[in-house]
Amino acid sequence: MSPCLLLHGLGEPPAHIPDAERPYWLPVEVFARILAMAQHHDVRLTFDDGNDTDARVALPMLREAGLTASFFIPSDRIGRPGYVGEADIRALSDASMEIGSHGRAHIRWTEVSDDAIVDDVSASIDNLQAILGERVRGVAVPFGACDRRVLRVLRRLGAGRVYSSFAGPDPADAWLVRRDCLTTDMPVPAIERLLTKKYTAVDGTLSFLRTWRRAGEASLWRA
Ligand SMILES: [Zn+2]
Repeated sequence: MSPCLLLHGLGEPPAHIPDAERPYWLPVEVFARILAMAQHHDVRLTFDDGNDTDARVALPMLREAGLTASFFIPSDRIGRPGYVGEADIRALSDASMEIGSHGRAHIRWTEVSDDAIVDDVSASIDNLQAILGERVRGVAVPFGACDRRVLRVLRRLGAGRVYSSFAGPDPADAWLVRRDCLTTDMPVPAIERLLTKKYTAVDGTLSFLRTWRRAGEASLWRA
């Protein structure tokens, strides 16, 4: 049950970043601290939203630290100013980083029809696969907006692991991955506690119940 962290942009958010995404940008020095700790702890790192800091800031720092991460990219943003371009995505993949879908248009899947979810996910996977020339399977849920209907649709689509924003530890065979989302105002000691936390059976049960309330049907969560 190693923790999985959810990060977004690094540094000061530029003016074009929507208000809803700004509180999730992390100072570069905080990311450096996370990497230093990740070298000694079993932790998974993921980045959502396709900000150009994925390639410009995170990639060189991850390489330097000898670590890898997963990057989930909304395909409509590819190549737009401030976001990763096709060459960036190939550079991330060439450096053994996982590339996954974050949908096409960065919309809340809980608020659209099954068909619209299928279109949004399939289009983004097709786009990323065309860029990389290889299969893309992982999917991160935009805004963490997922419930049992969304999960059923993603299952039917044959998605690989689904990365949620439900916090807490995962069972080892999880298909639905829980992630601890980091925010700008989170003090470094609190982040360090997330990385070093030894989960107990009680933590596992509480995390199970929290996830079940929003996305019940626990048979869906397993690989
Ligand atoms: Zn997002």
